Amino acid sequence: MGDPGKTPTLPVQGNASARAPHLKDGDPAFLTTRMDALLDAARKNSLWPFPFGTACCAIEFMSFMMSHYDISRFGAEVVRFSPRQSDLLIVAGTVTDKMAPVMVRIYEQMAEPKYVISMGVCACTGGFYRAYHVVQGIDEFIPVDVYVPGCPPTPEALLQGVVKLQEMIARGETHYQRALAAARAAGR
Ligand code: SF4
Repeated sequence: MGDPGKTPTLPVQGNASARAPHLKDGDPAFLTTRMDALLDAARKNSLWPFPFGTACCAIEFMSFMMSHYDISRFGAEVVRFSPRQSDLLIVAGTVTDKMAPVMVRIYEQMAEPKYVISMGVCACTGGFYRAYHVVQGIDEFIPVDVYVPGCPPTPEALLQGVVKLQEMIARGETHYQRALAAARAAGR
């Protein structure tokens, strides 16, 4: 049994003075993984959203960011209003033809890898605005990873959208990851 007051250590091999003793405390001392998986794990747990709010869905987005929903649990609470500091574009609201080039410009300026959530039926399909001046789905202009339906979607629905996106990142299923994999396969 040994002395219960003494911390057990594993025998140190090689140059004992150059190695720290390994504490046998039950924690894993090391793990193995792939670099892609490690980076994806870091990315999915540190999403930095850029809210592109154009209408009422943006109000619901504000609710989503409140402490009640504690989005910090998922590492996505660092909202930025600079595209160069963001990797998750959340389009929340009706997008008109006049606003579409602005949305595209912001998407292009965002850091890579980048992801897109379309929040609400207006952003997803134009919603009830069957009008000549309203974009009938933002995926006509930028790639969308997750669609969150509703008018407006509840904060819980958007939260589920973020979790879905995290799952997609972990599986390498986002638009950006698939495009990257295709480019690698083509030798580009
Ligand atoms: S989906 Fe509904 S709540 Fe959201 S922007 Fe359109 S009309 Fe407003």
